[in-house]
Amino acid sequence: MNLDFQKSDGLVTAVIQDHATGRVLMVGYMNEEAFRLTVETGFATFYSRSRRKLWLKGESSGHRLVVKEISTDCDLDAVLVKVEALGPGVCHEGYQSCFFRRLENGQWTVTDERTYDPATVYQSSSTSTTESVQSRDSVQSRDQRERSGAKQ
Ligand SMILES: [Zn+2]
Repeated sequence: MNLDFQKSDGLVTAVIQDHATGRVLMVGYMNEEAFRLTVETGFATFYSRSRRKLWLKGESSGHRLVVKEISTDCDLDAVLVKVEALGPGVCHEGYQSCFFRRLENGQWTVTDERTYDPATVYQSSSTSTTESVQSRDSVQSRDQRERSGAKQ
């Protein structure tokens, strides 16, 4: 029995949940390749619809998602991935979870505290060994790409 990638243009929805707390951290999309890599590498990998390419979560921030358990729903078009989140937060805006806004009296209200400063995290990644030769500009544009990937 295989996942149904046909229903939604080659993609399945991936709900990412903290394995310890049960909190939903983010939602993304996986194509067949992203799903295969997620299983094989043990790190959650998505397909970015805006960039039309694979996206290893944490590739620039270091905030990777270590896969603990994967399940699928009744019609095989969505997966629930329980993870251990490396780093202080999953959301590129500096929050533990992408679901940091709550509807209160008809208004979207930020109900979480930031767990890290995204500017600092993305700056400090430029000092790591693999990225040290790259200019500040290229680090920033990669940062932008991850942001746009995370937004969709
Ligand atoms: Zn987010």
